[in-house]
Order: sequence, then C-alpha cells, then structure tokens
Amino acid sequence: MTAAGGGAPAEAGAPAARRQAGREAPDQPFASDHADQGRDLGSGADQRARPPQARPGAPRADHSRLTVLSGPSGVGKSTVVAELRSSSPEIWISVSATTRKPRPGELNGREYHFVDENEFDRMAAAGELLEYAEFAGNKYGTPREPVARRVAQGLPTLLEIDLAGARQVKQAMPEALLVFLEPPSWEELVRRLTGRGTEPPEVIERRLAVAKDELAAAGEFDVTLVNTSVTEVCRQMVTLINSNQ
Ligand code: 5GP
Repeated sequence: MTAAGGGAPAEAGAPAARRQAGREAPDQPFASDHADQGRDLGSGADQRARPPQARPGAPRADHSRLTVLSGPSGVGKSTVVAELRSSSPEIWISVSATTRKPRPGELNGREYHFVDENEFDRMAAAGELLEYAEFAGNKYGTPREPVARRVAQGLPTLLEIDLAGARQVKQAMPEALLVFLEPPSWEELVRRLTGRGTEPPEVIERRLAVAKDELAAAGEFDVTLVNTSVTEVCRQMVTLINSNQ
C-alpha cells in the first residue's frame, strides 16, 4: 500500500471534491452483518464527470458499480466509514480480512475479519480475495464473493482499502469509482496518526513513510475529497455512491 498526491486545496470551511481522470451480509467465509452500515454525499461534490443516473438509494436490478475509498493511513477513512455505516445503512460496506490485531473497540466481523497469517495466505491462494496487500507489517484483503454478490444484486457497494488495493480493483473492475480522501494538510495527518495513540512509535513512522507515497497517487483517482469535516465528506460520499449506480 502506497501512493501519493495532489491535494485539492481545501476551501474555507468546505471539503473539496475534485473529479480527475477516474460490509453486512450474513455470508461466508466471514459473515458479518452490516445492515447497519452506510453514508451520504451531497453539496460540494462535482457531478460533472458522471451525472447521477439513478434515484439515490434505489438498487438496480442488474448490477451496480463499485465505489472504492482510499487515502493515506490516518486520514480518517475508517471514521468516515463508521459514520456511513450508521447513517446510510443502504450502502453495503465490505469487511476486509486482516492479520492485524484488533484495536480496542473493534469487533470481529464488523471492522474486520481478524485472521491469522495461515488463514490469510490460504484465502489469497484459493482466490478468495478480490485484492490484497501488505500494509505496515500486516496483511489486508477484500473477500471476493460478498462484493461480487452485492454488485450483482445492484446494491450500493463500498470498499475502504489502501492504495495498492485500489489499484488492483481498478485493474480487475475498471468501471469502479475510485475516491481519494486527502488530509487538509501534512501536519494534520501527522497529528492524527500520532494522536490516535493506538500504534507504537515505530509503526507510526512506517505509516507516515507510506503516507508520503500514498499522497502522491491522488491523481490516479476519479475524485478527491479533502477531509475537513467528516459529516461533509460523508455527505459527498453518499452523493457519489448513489450517482455511481
Ligand atoms: P488499519 O490498520 O488502520 O485499519 O488499516 C491500514 C490500511 O489498510 C488502511 O489504509 C486501510 O484502508 C487499508 N485496508 C483496510 N482493509 C483493506 C483491504 O481489504 N485491502 C487493502 N488493500 N487495504 C485495506
């Protein structure tokens, strides 16, 4: 996981949205019910590149396009996803598998499917992961089947993954909408990663090093949002996801 780049300058008080070039279900192998997941996107999002084509929240009968949220570690992706999970339950959010240990408050099957290295490697070898990557010493991957099923059902579907994973999804599913979340500034990203207090200093150092690369990759994404306000980013995400159906 690595990436980088170009930030949209944040306008006073409002997150920026830029167009660029371009979890729940009781299932196996990791069933988790994210009927309670969701989010929302609204004003401020530039709709020029891909105008809305369906009523917000209305699942299509055939299949929907996938939305991928990426950005550097510490930028606030998981906070945005947690907010969406509770505010927009119509959006299905993929639950990744990871070899990372759970943080306080994280639940197996909600934030992640916490697995050991052997199980992760087995899943990867068996082709059960849509994409996977190693990040700061741990492995992360998206279980393929639940995502394929939601997309086939026409349900708004969201992945929150790192840059390496986003690149793999783009390769496998070019129709996916890639959204990059940027921090308002580098100083703010350092503050968030350091202040989280959940990782030891050496892990923070590794994540910051990766974040530098990740920021440089913003130009590879379809849309960039600047995380000046979780509420506003969620509103923009909901708009983007609904317009992506
Ligand atoms: P964290 O350990 O902070 O929860 O996540 C570390 C990084 O891994 C974040 O950038 C997060 O977006 C990414 N990540 C989470 N799940 C996946 C996944 O399934 N695949 C990939 N490639 N990255 C993931």
